[in-house]
Amino acid sequence: MKSFLIISFLFCFFTFLGQDTTKMIVVIDAGHGGKDPGNLHQTKGLLDEKDLNLAMALKAGGYIEQFLGHAIEVVYSRKSDEFISLEDRVKMANSINAAYFISVHCNASENNSVVGTETHIHTFESTMSNKLAHEIQIQFKERAGRHSRGVKIKNDRLGNLLVLKESKMPAVLVETGFMTNPHEEAYLNSEKGQDIIASAIFRAFRDFVKTHHKIEMQLAEKPNEEVKNEPVWKIQIFASTGPVSLDNPDFLSVGDAVEELILSNSNSAFNYKYYVGAFKTKKDAKDKLKEIRDGVFKDAFLVKFE
Ligand SMILES: [Zn+2]
Repeated sequence: MKSFLIISFLFCFFTFLGQDTTKMIVVIDAGHGGKDPGNLHQTKGLLDEKDLNLAMALKAGGYIEQFLGHAIEVVYSRKSDEFISLEDRVKMANSINAAYFISVHCNASENNSVVGTETHIHTFESTMSNKLAHEIQIQFKERAGRHSRGVKIKNDRLGNLLVLKESKMPAVLVETGFMTNPHEEAYLNSEKGQDIIASAIFRAFRDFVKTHHKIEMQLAEKPNEEVKNEPVWKIQIFASTGPVSLDNPDFLSVGDAVEELILSNSNSAFNYKYYVGAFKTKKDAKDKLKEIRDGVFKDAFLVKFE
C-alpha cells in the first residue's frame, strides 16, 4: 500500500513534470456558442456565427497542434456548441497562464456590400497584441486574398471585447468576414474558405512566435502551401497613381473583396493596382472576369501571379 502510494506520488509528480511546463499555451476561442448564436445566418441553410467560429477555430488550432505542437499547447475555450460566458473564457485563459489568446468571430453590417477582415485589440499600447494582429491582417491580405480592413481597437465590438480587456496575455479578436455580404457568407461557409482563413491565422501566429520566441520549427510547417506555390489568376480592375478607397461604390459594386497591391519598382506611374479574386484555374478566373466586365470595369483583365 505504502509503495503504491509512493509510486502514485511519483507518477503524479512526473506526470506533472511531463505536463509540458515548458510549452507555451495559446487559447483559441471560438466566439459565442449555445444559447448565444452571435450573428445569424442570412441565407437559408447556412450556419450561424457560433458554428462558423467553431469550425474555423478548430481548424486553426488543429494547424497549430500539427505544426507547432512540440512547443505550443492549444487550449480551446469550447470544442462544441456550448454557451460559455465571456468572464469564464477570460478566467480560464488567465488561470492556465496562457501566453496568447486568439478569439475567432464573424462580422455583420447593416450595409450588405461591406466585406473584409478585421483584427481587434484592446489598445495600441499592447505591443505584442498589436504585432500579432498586424501579422494576421497581412496574411489575410497577402496570402488569403481577403480584403483587409486593418487592425482596430475595441469600442465597436460590444461585450465581446471583454476577452481582450480582461485577459492578462496578448489577445486578439479576429473578425474573419461579413456574414451580411452574400459572397463572403458563402465563402465563410465553405470548407475551402474556412481552411484558408484558418491557415492564415496559423501562419500569422507561427511567424509571430518564430520572431518573438525561441521555438524550434519542425519540418513541414506550412499548410496550404499550394496557395503559395501554384500560380494564381487575379483580375485587375483598376490602376491608379495614388491610393483609392477600397470602400468606394465602384469597388463595392463588384461584390467581391478588392485587393490593393502597391508596386514600388514598376516602370509605370500607376503603381496602385486593384485586383479581385485569386483563382487556381484560368477558366474560373475568366468566368469571373466576364461577370466583372458586365459591370463598371469594362477594361478589367487577367493577371497571372506565380
Ligand atoms: Zn461575434
